[in-house]
Amino acid sequence: MNFLEERILKDGIVKPNNVLKVDSFLNHQMDISLMEQIGQEFHRRFADKTVTKVLTIEASGIGIACFVAKEFGVPMVFAKKSKSINIDNEVYVAEVESFTHKNKNNVIVSKKFLGEEDHVLLIDDFLANGCALQGLVGIAQSAGATVEGIGIVIEKGFQIGGQIIRNLGIPLESLAIIDAMDAETGTITFRAQ
Ligand code: 5GP
Repeated sequence: MNFLEERILKDGIVKPNNVLKVDSFLNHQMDISLMEQIGQEFHRRFADKTVTKVLTIEASGIGIACFVAKEFGVPMVFAKKSKSINIDNEVYVAEVESFTHKNKNNVIVSKKFLGEEDHVLLIDDFLANGCALQGLVGIAQSAGATVEGIGIVIEKGFQIGGQIIRNLGIPLESLAIIDAMDAETGTITFRAQ
């Protein structure tokens, strides 16, 4: 079992509707030593890639992506939720359905911060149905950038996103893959990696 799986078993809480709460260490209160370790682990796993930017999505990916970007020594860019319309054609836009809130948001990245010269590593906290990542891949493609890889902290392997993203042929590294979880008993089963 790796450091993240151990922490999930210790502090993760299984909620109904396939939601895992990790807000005591990952996406509300953040354990900074753990973040540092996550940043180093993604750096190790993507060491053979050329990365010029780390790209994530507001809000819970931001903290993690900062630590990854620091390891690579590159900027971190996050796709922002936006209500405004792209009047001046200054931004790349993707529509993303939120897994946790069940609503749709447009997310945007300014054309100033992503272009065809970029090689991006996409980072997010969770992979569930894959909407957030598909939005980020779409934004990178609109920019003409190369997606070098995707780093996910927790993949819920019993949901469809992992399969959709693997079918795109982009290298995907998930630090923990949950194959099953039960809100009544609190049990979490990890995929052996
Ligand atoms: P997807 O777009 O893959 O369906 O969902 C990914 C996004 O939904 C992530 O950015 C994450 O913020 C949120 N999310 C998905 N599943 C969970 C979960 O079980 N727990 C928490 N805390 N967030 C989740």
